[in-house]
Amino acid sequence: MKWTKKTHEFDRIWLDMKINCSQKIKYYLFGAGKSGDEWWSLINLFDDGGVAGYFDNSKSIIGNKKNGCKILDITKYQHKKNNIIIVSVGEKYEKSICTQLEQIGLKRNLDYYAGSEFRDLYFPIILLYYYNILYDDMVQISVTERCTLKCKHCAHTCPYVDYNNKTDLLLNEVKESADAYFSTFDYVNRFTLLGGEPLLYKELTDALIYIGERYRNRIRDFFITTNATVLPKEDLINVCKKYEVGFEISDYRQAVPVISDKVKQFINILKESNVKYRILNDRWIDLGFPYINNSENDAKRIFDLCGAPCHEVRKTRYYSCILARCAAENIYSDEGEEYYVDIANSDDDTRKIVFEFIHGYCDKGYLKLCRHCRGLFGENNIVVPGVQMSKGNEGD
Ligand code: SF4
Ligand code: SF4
Repeated sequence: MKWTKKTHEFDRIWLDMKINCSQKIKYYLFGAGKSGDEWWSLINLFDDGGVAGYFDNSKSIIGNKKNGCKILDITKYQHKKNNIIIVSVGEKYEKSICTQLEQIGLKRNLDYYAGSEFRDLYFPIILLYYYNILYDDMVQISVTERCTLKCKHCAHTCPYVDYNNKTDLLLNEVKESADAYFSTFDYVNRFTLLGGEPLLYKELTDALIYIGERYRNRIRDFFITTNATVLPKEDLINVCKKYEVGFEISDYRQAVPVISDKVKQFINILKESNVKYRILNDRWIDLGFPYINNSENDAKRIFDLCGAPCHEVRKTRYYSCILARCAAENIYSDEGEEYYVDIANSDDDTRKIVFEFIHGYCDKGYLKLCRHCRGLFGENNIVVPGVQMSKGNEGD
């Protein structure tokens, strides 16, 4: 979407939520299972004791307590102003519970919220407008774009990097990125160092120490994303343990069998050291770099549908889509830089602008690279992850 009321784009939604800022919000979680637990801990981060109770359709647990809150019967609920019900169940049950709440006269996005929408939009709005907390779901720092692999559909376009003109971020630049980010944002759900292959970055351990020491309490999940082809040294493992940094492993063993032993060793090291990890099972799309050219109208449509979650901070620049920034530098450099918000000196207006940028606004209504991209949605153009470039289509 194109900015038309910069710094005020979400004022209307906020007013329509009819929350009274001089009164406490009471949150009720409909669903006392795993999803309810996740919501309880998220809300408690910003509003200790903010959850006033649970609802659940299992009659047998009504009256029990969970996380110190009573599980209540929805049929006896009397709605009050500043009460918010969050439907905190899995996707499968969300719709039927929303219908149930409508049937007892509650209004969506006023009295109750579907958990998925609340997480993506309404809760970040409440955090900013009510608590003055700027919250980000995810941010990344790409420390290097060098890699041990050359994946044909690398979303970061690493095989196209021209190393005559590009170097890793300096350690000071990684520090500058983290400082700028945390002088703007209050809290991030997932903070990731990645690349390229981040374990090729000589100062990875120092970067983790710097961020862990200063900002760990403002990060929920701290991860390194790796293809697991470079084994972690002992000092890196120790720092990961100290600051509770985990590994996300992009597992390309199927497409590149030759790396299988290395990946297995990598996982064994993590297991033996008790460092948490998870194997990523991401869906890969052939985004269309470097051969797609969209019209301006198509670029706008694709940008609105895309909702790319992969934000990046790079020195004092905040990019809403790391893929766009990488491709703009690595493939389309003759077309100029990708759009970003400068967060060098963050005041209240900058925080609002960044918030709107994250939630789909920008100057032209699309990013420059959306002219060359299919977007991260849809069922077409799915490709096998990790397939390597063959001779003749290498990027360098
Ligand atoms: S492993 Fe493949 S997808 Fe990941 S950064 Fe390297 S080239 Fe890109
Ligand atoms: S469509 Fe635009 S925002 Fe979405 S991934 Fe492509 S470049 Fe990024």
